Amino acid sequence: MTPLGPYLEAREIFFYAATLAAVVLFIVGLKRLSSPATARMGNRYAAAGMLLAIGASVWETNAIGWWVILAGIVIGGAIGLFSALKVKMTAMPQMVALFNGAGGGAAALISTSEFFVAVFGRGSDALSLNLLVIVSLVVSAIIGAISFSGSIIAFLKLQEWMTGRPVTYKGQQAVNALLALVIVALALVIMATIGGVPWYWYVAMLVGALIFGVLFVLPIGGADMPVVISLLNSFTGVAVAITGFELNYQLLIVSGTLVGASGTLLTILMGKAMNRPLTNVLFGAFGSTGGMEPAGGASGGGPQNIRATSAEDVAVMLSYAQQVVVVPGYGMAVAQAQHSVRELADQLEKKGVTVKYAIHPVAGRMPGHMNVLLAEANVPYNQLYDMDDINPEFPRTDVALIIGANDVTNPAARNVPSSPIYGMPILDVDKASNVVVLKRSMRSGFAGIDNPLYEDPKTSMLFGDAKASVDGLVAAVKAL
Ligand code: NDP
Repeated sequence: MTPLGPYLEAREIFFYAATLAAVVLFIVGLKRLSSPATARMGNRYAAAGMLLAIGASVWETNAIGWWVILAGIVIGGAIGLFSALKVKMTAMPQMVALFNGAGGGAAALISTSEFFVAVFGRGSDALSLNLLVIVSLVVSAIIGAISFSGSIIAFLKLQEWMTGRPVTYKGQQAVNALLALVIVALALVIMATIGGVPWYWYVAMLVGALIFGVLFVLPIGGADMPVVISLLNSFTGVAVAITGFELNYQLLIVSGTLVGASGTLLTILMGKAMNRPLTNVLFGAFGSTGGMEPAGGASGGGPQNIRATSAEDVAVMLSYAQQVVVVPGYGMAVAQAQHSVRELADQLEKKGVTVKYAIHPVAGRMPGHMNVLLAEANVPYNQLYDMDDINPEFPRTDVALIIGANDVTNPAARNVPSSPIYGMPILDVDKASNVVVLKRSMRSGFAGIDNPLYEDPKTSMLFGDAKASVDGLVAAVKAL
């Protein structure tokens, strides 16, 4: 018995208290991420929770030497720091894919090491295999391996190190289904014998899961990629939570469940915002279907009857408007034009113009992308309107000012049934009295399709990099 109680030693009490505090910090941090006003603080809470979780785990472990843990922390921390500082906001989905893959891979590696230590009976910390442990071990190895290899393919596609289009071939789904069956059969045998099969059965299952991850992501492409990353993210969460059962480690169970649940919710939300059921994302091969419209651009075939305009003309239109709705998109993120946009809004407000921002849920390359950028430029949150709130405003809007957005304004989603984005809810910018589009060329957006909005008689195009164009507008408005 210790002075602190009959059941727990002091170090255990410290460990459980730190675990509980870390879990609370994760949950509060996650909750705070749901609003732009509190998101930064939420991130800090979650980071503090992670630091506490690592500290508590290192404190409690006696499995391996300190230098191994320290090396892991230094290498992982350096990669995290480098990525946070260097990776551009527009490359965030790739980064999430890589980090996510690392999480899944870690879960699979832990399971594999536990399996071999248990089977070959070496090491004082060897797991004794029972049904719960072997089931957790096998399931977390499979899901973690799928998440790892799938995320690597997602990364390669988004980084454009391989084609971003769906890779399809005849009989693909049958091959995938067959492989899935083989993996499940191997897993069942390993579980039923509590690991009593030759070790290479386990390796065959693991390799099968790795190949399945590759085959599963290959036919997914285009605008579906961020959705699949979110799905793989939820896989990683599940794999980590199950690893928690395997190691009897509550922190992993809770944090894995949080990742799994939030990844699943995000996947559902993104699917809804694009009107793409998950089955379409996984099996629909976005962008490879027949009937897809040709993309515009240098290759020709794009919109023909367009009206180019100048900063001076747009400045006059904006200055005499009563209400201007700014529609930011991926191009604003690329150009980093958010500060200039804020300055333009300030100038217009000085002239008595009401300025609002229309935020489409999948504008940019990740959910909340536009909110983050505009918050960075200190745009007041009450000027940001969700799609459902702003759409009724467009008929009484004088100018819809589209800054680097394309797909999220494409009326084909409403009225061209053959369009790959048909059914996706869009911002009804074409209902405004005037539409001004800021982009560099007639190239298409992420979905690779033409936008009939550009041929609408009330649309004018202000060509150029979004930041340079908005700076030009600020100067022209000031000069009026
Ligand atoms: P898009 O990708 O449709 O269009 C962006 C436009 O910005 C392009 O047409 C491009 O035209 C223009 N652009 C690029 N760079 C610049 C620049 N420096 N200056 C000015 N313009 C520039 O963006 P949206 O935001 O409208 O749509 C997002 C797309 O991403 C949708 O298809 C959505 O489904 C998809 N997606 C988004 C997710 C999310 O969570 N946000 C998730 C899944 C998919 P040009 O090259 O001529 O300049």
